[in-house]
Amino acid sequence: MRIATISKDKKSVAVKPNLTNYPLLYHDFTWQEARTCIDGLPDGALNIAYEAVDRHLKRGLGEKTAILWLSKDGHTQTLSYRELSEQTSRFASVLQLLGVRKGDRVFGLLGRTPGLYIALLGSLKNGSVFSPLFSAFGPEPIRSRMSIGDARVLVTTERLYRKKVMPWRDQMPGLKHILLLDTSDDLPAGCLDLNRLLAGADPTSPAEPTDPEDMALLHFTSGTTGTPKGAVHAHQAVLYHILSSRYALDLHPDDTYWCTADPGWVTGTSYGVIAPLCTGVTMVVDEAEFDAAHWYDILQKQQVSVWYTAPTAIRMLMKAGDELAQAYDLSHLRFMASVGEPLNPEAVLWSQQVLGRPFHDNWWQTETGGIMLANFASEAIKPGSMGRPLPGIEAAIVKRDIKGALVFIEDDYEVGELALKCGWPSMFRGYLDAEDRYQSCFQDGWYLSGDLASRDVDGYYWFVGRADDVIKSAGHLVGPFEVESVLLEHPSVAEAAVIGIPDPVVGEMVKAYVALKAGFKADEALRKTLLGHARKYLGASIAPKEIVFRDNLPKTRSGKIMRRLLKARELGLPEGDISTLESDET
Ligand code: ATP
Ligand code: MG
Repeated sequence: MRIATISKDKKSVAVKPNLTNYPLLYHDFTWQEARTCIDGLPDGALNIAYEAVDRHLKRGLGEKTAILWLSKDGHTQTLSYRELSEQTSRFASVLQLLGVRKGDRVFGLLGRTPGLYIALLGSLKNGSVFSPLFSAFGPEPIRSRMSIGDARVLVTTERLYRKKVMPWRDQMPGLKHILLLDTSDDLPAGCLDLNRLLAGADPTSPAEPTDPEDMALLHFTSGTTGTPKGAVHAHQAVLYHILSSRYALDLHPDDTYWCTADPGWVTGTSYGVIAPLCTGVTMVVDEAEFDAAHWYDILQKQQVSVWYTAPTAIRMLMKAGDELAQAYDLSHLRFMASVGEPLNPEAVLWSQQVLGRPFHDNWWQTETGGIMLANFASEAIKPGSMGRPLPGIEAAIVKRDIKGALVFIEDDYEVGELALKCGWPSMFRGYLDAEDRYQSCFQDGWYLSGDLASRDVDGYYWFVGRADDVIKSAGHLVGPFEVESVLLEHPSVAEAAVIGIPDPVVGEMVKAYVALKAGFKADEALRKTLLGHARKYLGASIAPKEIVFRDNLPKTRSGKIMRRLLKARELGLPEGDISTLESDET
């Protein structure tokens, strides 16, 4: 049991950990040790699908539930590790029969149904590269990603195919096979019925002995700052997925685990498929979209012990009210983590008080393939901080001098770009079709993340903002996160986004967009109250000069606020790539 004493004071130690589960001490870690997490295949080969599924059969875990699937219409289906092994082998053998080989690109356009997980792992088992697409994308984002990825196979449903692929199907001659699930009698021309093929396929087809450096996954970034990039990941990443999930998610084989991210985003693959299955847990997959009561119901009924979610969802749970949360028995929850956006200290405090456990924030990117910084299970949480580098990860705060050379910032709390020493196994191996852009991310053996942050005396990292979003106002560097966090501390505020507007006097003026909680009226009096609240806690130079009320803020489909879109609209500039835009302001 942890003793929680969360304080809003950023520098204070917040949660005393229970250290008994952690035999590996941080500084004792070596990559050699990490290799004991995997079995590997003969002659140094390594295949993610083998590590995630087949090897568990040899350990007598075949009958254990691997996936507990909750369908949209309320029924439950389980897949044991043995069933998953057979199904993924069948899928791999279908690919072989079609002549799809190692390195060929297989795209998945599917909701969170068992078919998606089978296609992903079955493609890897065949040595093919899998690229999951978020099923709510429109036809053009799907076409452009498949074109960049040189798609050879698409796995989807008949409904999604007719609506989103058929309109442009003829423009992509390299797309040889379209495999459909949920087909009607009237199978569209040029498509194959996947279920029929699977029924006749070999359930024992073994995993292809891929080289650790072979390409395994192609993941597109969220498109928050511009056009999404296609990040390439190798089979070797699995090593890091397993290990990082121990440290940052406290994942153990006997856990019931729920990662709410869709595999269309990297979190939903690294920690929604690979890490949990490799660990041998039972993982919950929910097909439905967010609904507060439904989510609490899952946590209670399925007795989820480890839960990995995102700040947007947490803020929506907060918005749904404390009473709802308290109506459920969440006592099985042991560990809760968050990623994707800055997690405001207020949310950590709330979760401790209302859910009985604090959220552990962690930081990473599509490019890093796995969690880089975390408030570990075994260490104190600092609410509002992204935590410390994981074992084997070297992080730094850097800037460039006048000549462009890299300078390492040693001073505590000084802001610079967050950089990571190259060489961890899940690091991206390239941006597809964008070699120059890829090369520009590196300098002197360091990967430059594009995020600004600072580090405190205890080695914890604090997010300031994306380099593109940071505001320069009257000689101050204003991080949107800090201003948004203060606004969110006010009881009326559900969501906040802060941008800089060009100003002849101060350079950039801080402007905030705010969505209110139910029951609060967007009027002049509240605007003045919020302006005063921000000034009180931030000082006049950093506090927003203007606050605009909105019903919703524009977000990517992975739940990130698109500040660049607010800014473009404010300045009357082109909106840029909005292929990943989900909810929009009204
Ligand atoms: P694009 O690169 O296309 O603009 P994106 O950066 O949003 O999109 P992702 O790779 O999905 O695509 O997101 C990674 C980014 O999310 C990080 O660079 C960071 O800005 C933000 N992020 C992730 N986790 C955290 C966190 N714990 N705190 C603050 N920001 C976070
Ligand atoms: Mg990015």
